[in-house]
Amino acid sequence: MGTLDSIFNKARDVANDMGKKAGDVVEVSKLKLSVVSLESDIEKIYAKLGLMVYEMVKAGSENRGLIDGCVAEIDALKGKLGEINAKVDELKNVRRCDSCGAAVELSAQFCPMCGNLIKSQPEAEAAPQEEAAPEEPQPPQELENPGVDA
Ligand SMILES: [Zn+2]
Repeated sequence: MGTLDSIFNKARDVANDMGKKAGDVVEVSKLKLSVVSLESDIEKIYAKLGLMVYEMVKAGSENRGLIDGCVAEIDALKGKLGEINAKVDELKNVRRCDSCGAAVELSAQFCPMCGNLIKSQPEAEAAPQEEAAPEEPQPPQELENPGVDA
């Protein structure tokens, strides 16, 4: 997580100094790498969550806490993902179509993908912040079923 935080700080610094186009390009590449890594982390947790639910159903028991922990992990990562994507958009001088989510030039009046009318507010709308998950990093507990290789 420390690496990600430093990426965020770096991105903020770069955003504060928009004159450096080349720097922006490098920054966008870095941010896209962290997007890929975050997306793969999220996929892994989805898979873990699925296995967890499967085993709970098989065992006829439910551990809501374990499920909620996984969901919170996913939401936290999605929050980070949203921040990074917003930063990438900012560096690339685009914003998102309200209708289809496509990247649209700041100057565009209509979305090139879906034709949606783009509102002409200059400031990019910040993605709604999910409520931050609790900070304590809870390592996902193993299910009480040593028989299955997780
Ligand atoms: Zn669109």
